[in-house]
Amino acid sequence: MRYPDDRPAVLTLTSGPVDAYPEVLRALARPVLYDFDPAFMAFYEAVARKAQRVMRTPAPPVILHGEPVLGLEAAAASLIGRGDVVLNLVSGVYGKGFGYWAARHAKRVLELEVPYNEAIDPQAVAEMLRRHPEVAVVSVCHHDTPSGTINPVEEIGRVVRDHGALLIVDAVSSFGGMPADPESARADLYVTGPNKCLGCPPALTLMAVSDRAWAKMKANPDAPRDSILSILDWEEAWRADRPFPFTPSVAEVNGLDAALDRHLAEGPEAVWARHTLTARATRAGIRAMGMRLWPAREEIAAPTTTAVACPEWMDEAAIRAEARARYGVVFSSGRGETLGRLTRIGHMGPTAHPIHALAALAAYGGAVNALGGRADVGAAIAAAMAVIDAG
Ligand SMILES: *Cc1c(COP(=O)(O)O)cnc(C)c1O
Repeated sequence: MRYPDDRPAVLTLTSGPVDAYPEVLRALARPVLYDFDPAFMAFYEAVARKAQRVMRTPAPPVILHGEPVLGLEAAAASLIGRGDVVLNLVSGVYGKGFGYWAARHAKRVLELEVPYNEAIDPQAVAEMLRRHPEVAVVSVCHHDTPSGTINPVEEIGRVVRDHGALLIVDAVSSFGGMPADPESARADLYVTGPNKCLGCPPALTLMAVSDRAWAKMKANPDAPRDSILSILDWEEAWRADRPFPFTPSVAEVNGLDAALDRHLAEGPEAVWARHTLTARATRAGIRAMGMRLWPAREEIAAPTTTAVACPEWMDEAAIRAEARARYGVVFSSGRGETLGRLTRIGHMGPTAHPIHALAALAAYGGAVNALGGRADVGAAIAAAMAVIDAG
């Protein structure tokens, strides 16, 4: 049996965007209210307050109306002044990419870079800051998705706060899927979105902004205003009695509302636990199959993405194409430096249920075998089941 490319996949086990929750899909079909209809303005405030509960912040987060690349680019443009020295922490493609945005606005960007299967060491950050007291802004990616690795943002946040710099955290693919929030990371701009672990389509940014970050952005004459890149324009826009600077994505706000309700009803701890268990089962299966995980150490492997190293002699794109054609299962490739070197199995939102680990392992191992590799699929399923049943 073959699944033709022009038919939708049976299972989308990617590391984002992910399939949306059914509740979210239904909410996307709600009536599209006029944005200045008082009913919509009150609804928007309620959604912002719900997002505040989910993000555990003292004030509602800013909602920007574009997928989180908008938020990251806006963060660089708004917080980084032309006199600022920035320390960008790089453990993967997203961390590296943020440095290019930072360089457009900063006086200078310093980088602390580790191999893309490793994580940033907070001690090394402390050392770098001791040598460079002039650093005003530090940036870090929590889960560098194309590597499937997690950086210790809480420890990094402590080091950065002690130094007195402001911290920008890209938490797009970690927030919602693991214990992570702006306060515990001591983040000044904490950028995430509903299109990964919250199970929405890609369209919005959620950004928590500290008081220090508001002050710095307001004092930055180059921070965008009256612009699609502006954070400042949206400061009070969540309030029902304040106008929107421009039209919000009404349908996507409806979807976000349903995703937040779902997250709160299930309970964040329960959501995190099923992400963790799915990832643990997948990793156990990959090892039992005779394949290698990409992260250098299990402790830094993400609970929301499992990156599997591609065997030297195999064509990574062919493995994904085979998994789709044979089983209708879609995985993510690497990106940039990791492209061709690993395959990513996502555990995000609706796919972060342990049973999906079995489908992922069967499809991945089956594809490897079809291409002449030797993957022990039976051992993989048994190992994953053992983890699931004990969990
Ligand atoms: C998904 C993701 C983003 C959003 O960007 P896209 O590349 O457009 O998907 C930003 N940062 C991280 C770490 C992500 O995983």
